[in-house]
Amino acid sequence: MKRQIIDTIEKYEKIIILRHVRPDPDAYGSQFGLKELIQHNYPTKKVLAGGMHEETLNFLATPDRVEKSDYEGALVIVTDTGNTGRIDGEYYQEGALLMKIDHHPDADPYGDIKWVDTTSSSTSEMIARLFKEGRQSYGWTMNDSAARLLFAGIVGDTGRFMFPSTTEKTFHIASELIGYHFDRTALFAGMYEVSRELLQLKGYIYQNFEMDENGCAFIKLNQSLLNQFQVTVSETSQLVGILGDVKGICAWVIFIEEDDQIRVRFRSKGPVINELAARYGGGGHPLAAGASVHSWDEADEVIRDLQGLCK
Ligand code: AMP
Repeated sequence: MKRQIIDTIEKYEKIIILRHVRPDPDAYGSQFGLKELIQHNYPTKKVLAGGMHEETLNFLATPDRVEKSDYEGALVIVTDTGNTGRIDGEYYQEGALLMKIDHHPDADPYGDIKWVDTTSSSTSEMIARLFKEGRQSYGWTMNDSAARLLFAGIVGDTGRFMFPSTTEKTFHIASELIGYHFDRTALFAGMYEVSRELLQLKGYIYQNFEMDENGCAFIKLNQSLLNQFQVTVSETSQLVGILGDVKGICAWVIFIEEDDQIRVRFRSKGPVINELAARYGGGGHPLAAGASVHSWDEADEVIRDLQGLCK
């Protein structure tokens, strides 16, 4: 599979790399890490990374401007995106060939060429494995910038190597990546440094989340609360995992009110929650998933469903 991917990359002079909407470090890490790798090993190719920029990921990279005309004759590679509905790039079908590289369950098997590995901690880990194949069979080398991006993606999706998705392979790859030259301290600061406001909201969550006798917990963050704490919706990403530290917790859901919807973010320590997310039009991994609802009544329904799963 990896050789087929590299052979295909070699055939195209123009490559557009996309990833999912509302990007996280693994979305940026896999997208820009792959861009760096291709550009570094094939300097004459035109490689563009598309999608809306996420301000909180400024420290990682900034997307390129990609026009509809750029897609003509291009290889389009989509990383870290399970379903077409979440691809950030409306013209993704306008290229010559579409490729999917992802570690989410393959609920929507799009693409002419597809490499899906749900056992991989992150899509960035898959890109690092693609590099290893490239190094062994095609003479690829890695630059510091690609190593930094891939390392960030792995760290992000493994919760700093804490989630069960972290394997021996993950550590091997991470240990190789840190052999390159990049400022790891600055990278961790970019990923995890929080403002005083966010810290206060964290305190609020710890004081106000509700949990039943089975360890099923939830917290609702509505717009007035976010305004009161002066925290943006994207900044709340750093708070989704914090309830995982609570003794006895089984699964939890955080609701974040946006202008036109309420974002639902599920996490679990056991029960599979991506099927529940799918029932509300979302998806994700067995232990980390997301969806959107459109009223607080619907949010209460989600809570009841999650409580049912924890019984
Ligand atoms: P998040 O809470 O945004 O970090 O998402 C957790 C996981 O669920 C990630 O792998 C996301 O890609 C996935 N996910 C989140 N929201 C959705 C959605 N609406 N549809 C499909 N997958 C989602």
